[in-house]
Amino acid sequence: MAELSDLPLRDNLVGKTPYGAPQAAVPVSLNVNENTHPLPEAFIAEATEALAAALRGVNRYPDREFMGLREALAGYLGYGLTPEQVWAANGSNEVLQQILQAFGGPGRTLMSFTPTYSMYPLLADGTDTGWIGVPRDADFRVTPELAVAAIREHQPDIVVLCAPNNPTGTPMSLETVIAAYDAFDGILVVDEAYKEFDTATESAISLLPGRHRLIVSRTMSKAFAFAGVRLGYLAADSAVVDALRLVRLPYHLSGLTQAAAVTAVKHSEAMLATVGEIRAQRDRLGVALAERGYTVHESGANFLLVGGFADPGAVFERLRAQGILVRDLGIAGHVRITAGTESETSTVISAIEEFGAAGSV
Ligand SMILES: *Cc1c(COP(=O)(O)O)cnc(C)c1O
Repeated sequence: MAELSDLPLRDNLVGKTPYGAPQAAVPVSLNVNENTHPLPEAFIAEATEALAAALRGVNRYPDREFMGLREALAGYLGYGLTPEQVWAANGSNEVLQQILQAFGGPGRTLMSFTPTYSMYPLLADGTDTGWIGVPRDADFRVTPELAVAAIREHQPDIVVLCAPNNPTGTPMSLETVIAAYDAFDGILVVDEAYKEFDTATESAISLLPGRHRLIVSRTMSKAFAFAGVRLGYLAADSAVVDALRLVRLPYHLSGLTQAAAVTAVKHSEAMLATVGEIRAQRDRLGVALAERGYTVHESGANFLLVGGFADPGAVFERLRAQGILVRDLGIAGHVRITAGTESETSTVISAIEEFGAAGSV
């Protein structure tokens, strides 16, 4: 067998490691921010029929423009969006990759504020786009002043603001989005993967009118409990959608994906019925760990970044030995924990309480 180093790999991929959150079959899996609740049975029943009908048509290529799904997503998002302003792909990772293929590439740069979503630099590498990570402030915030100063200094072609931010949970103000947009002539992406959990802030979709370089990306992987289907989407000016059509693979969204997603959007109220409960579990987890002396960072998402661990790697291993997966992202003293069901949340609270006070493990 040859080694990776024996291959004529592109220079900017040499020495890189693939995205790799552990996938282990454990009873309590709280490491990739999925919605861990079961899907509504009424949705399963209707989606089963829709998938059967779609299967009868798989001898033909699917609708390349997936207008039925774009219409459904435009209706779900609201704000008077038309289907021409909506686009989708296999996960918002693919949406972001298409954005980089169209607007990034050799000689261009993508900037974001770290710590942030670990896929941004990987997607930059994969499209030969330069990566610029600018540290957030001490509270993991991006103030309008910080955003504007970083954009003026680095002159990026694309900026992505993760709102709320993964892995810190930090909400993002619309003032920062507006200031960032006005500070350059490039593409501004607001990644709203966790938006459904964040009731305190207005969506950046409200800022789209008059801002043709603004893109708001969403996903069905988190609140919608739909990670396995792979469906991410965006709202933007229709000119942005025209640009993405230049780089998408023809028929990239399978007929089965389209059928499942249209049905999910139709059942969005039921699909999202657990969002309030997940927020309540997140807050219960936060209160329990704060009482033990841990640092719980403000979160507008379905997870918490928790500090006060002496050795996050050891915490990860000890919890995994008990059948609980959390995420060690290499942030000193911290682990990220997804808010699960009531019983999963109780399990992880008890396990950490058994460690003793903050700092003992
Ligand atoms: C989970 C996540 C995504 C979603 O990825 P999908 O490809 O849609 O599953 C996008 N952005 C952030 C910040 C995330 O945490």
